[in-house]
Amino acid sequence: MPAGHVSIESDELDRYVADTYWKALAARAAGAPLGRPDVVVKPRSDAEVAAVVRLANHHQVPVVPWGGGSGTQGASIPTQGGIVIDLTGMDRIVEIDERSMTVTAEAGVNGKRLEAELNQRGLMLPHYPASAEFATVGGYVAARGSGVLSTRYGKIEDLVLSLRVVTPTGEIVDTLPVPRHAVGPDIAPLFIGSEGSLGVITRARLQIAPLPAARHFEVVSFPTVEDGVEAVRKSLQSGLRPSVVRLYDEVATRITLSPVVGSELPGVATVICFEGDAGVVAAERASMLKLARAHKGEVLDGGLGEVWWNHRYDFYAPPHAPELPAVWGTIDVVATYDRLLPTYHALQEAVAKPYAARGLKLRSHLSHWYPWGAMIYGRFVLPDGGPDAVTLHDRIWKDGVTAALGTGAVINDHHGVGLKLAPYMQAQHGAGLDVLRRIKVALDPSGVMNPGKLGL
Ligand SMILES: Cc1cc2nc3c(=O)[nH]c(=O)nc-3n(C[C@H](O)[C@H](O)[C@H](O)COP(=O)(O)OP(=O)(O)OC[C@H]3O[C@@H](n4cnc5c(N)ncnc54)[C@H](O)[C@@H]3O)c2cc1C
Repeated sequence: MPAGHVSIESDELDRYVADTYWKALAARAAGAPLGRPDVVVKPRSDAEVAAVVRLANHHQVPVVPWGGGSGTQGASIPTQGGIVIDLTGMDRIVEIDERSMTVTAEAGVNGKRLEAELNQRGLMLPHYPASAEFATVGGYVAARGSGVLSTRYGKIEDLVLSLRVVTPTGEIVDTLPVPRHAVGPDIAPLFIGSEGSLGVITRARLQIAPLPAARHFEVVSFPTVEDGVEAVRKSLQSGLRPSVVRLYDEVATRITLSPVVGSELPGVATVICFEGDAGVVAAERASMLKLARAHKGEVLDGGLGEVWWNHRYDFYAPPHAPELPAVWGTIDVVATYDRLLPTYHALQEAVAKPYAARGLKLRSHLSHWYPWGAMIYGRFVLPDGGPDAVTLHDRIWKDGVTAALGTGAVINDHHGVGLKLAPYMQAQHGAGLDVLRRIKVALDPSGVMNPGKLGL
């Protein structure tokens, strides 16, 4: 590997001590980071990645892949030191196939740049995470993410056709070129959500789509979360495919949505977007609004939905996003419809109520919907945790996750596991965790790939 692609400079190593996990940010601010690499490498090719991994495997040195460092779970922090492989040097858009509607991109391609290049051709990658400006293609896949249009286009795992992966022992493997087949189990899904624990993803071929001919927004206010969920459930189960359905509970409507769109919205406000062919958009809109009205939905000014779309990144930046010394986190859980509302209420009981006296506010929205269920994005913010902030943070998480598990929900929809949720993997997977551990041992006999993550 050329010398310019390797660094042990202190300033450079300091760039890799924290992603956006609250505990990592708090630890860095306190001068005691959760981890720091001994060396950072920035490979430019599959062969260079393979050479680094083989060397690390031989000398039993930890290896942590790093994309944009925008993860929220502490998954990319090198807690045991070793080598960080920064993939951002592998940033070629290899091929855009407009006939199959796919893009093949190296892992380090930045999300926003990829989007801009596709948009120039009238195309889009319909994976729109709020972190696209910072995140990479490899990070999208490795953290099993989801974007704002997922209700129509699916999560990242629905968009992956194939991957190129460097295994922990240094082999370069291409998965099958298509994701639907019957030639035995598929290995690509193994690496989706593997968070750097099973290998390094060096490129991905992803489904793209034409930029929609029309995009139409509506805002509906429901009297309760229950009414809204029923209207959306019936809409999706009747075959409607809105791209966005963002249902803010009353607290979130008041303190999260209203300030950003600049209007005091009532009740449980829900932003809905329809997109694609103009005729289909009109028909879907009419059908969904009919169902919304049948569930006591009041149709508000749809123009606010467009304001929401244009300001959708504002939610994640000051003054709308919290900063230290606040304590915050997003408990994003996913459940089938039979467990969805019990889970929502359990989170209120376990997190919103007990910590209210400390000033905590839980604002929740439901934004990634499936025909069988949906995700609850429960964002808690405590203005100041005081001297016991870390203990308090961990207790809130434990209470929230325990409540979600207790109602049969799954404890993460699209942010991943990392350090944050690793202690709960046994409770989540049961005997399945042992299966995952055996796969890990088989692929990574020296245990060098991102040790300590995913509960493996
Ligand atoms: C403001 C904000 C908004 C966000 N919004 C969303 C959202 O809407 N949807 C969403 O899904 N997420 C969201 N996230 C979380 C985060 O941005 C995503 O998880 C993103 O996919 C991470 O990509 P990254 O390139 O930054 O990965 P990193 O943070 O660098 O890494 C994440 C994990 O993937 C591993 N990894 C990275 N690259 C590779 C690779 N090439 N091969 C193997 N392993 C690799 C790392 O080791 C680590 O375990 C948000 C984060 C922030 C800060």
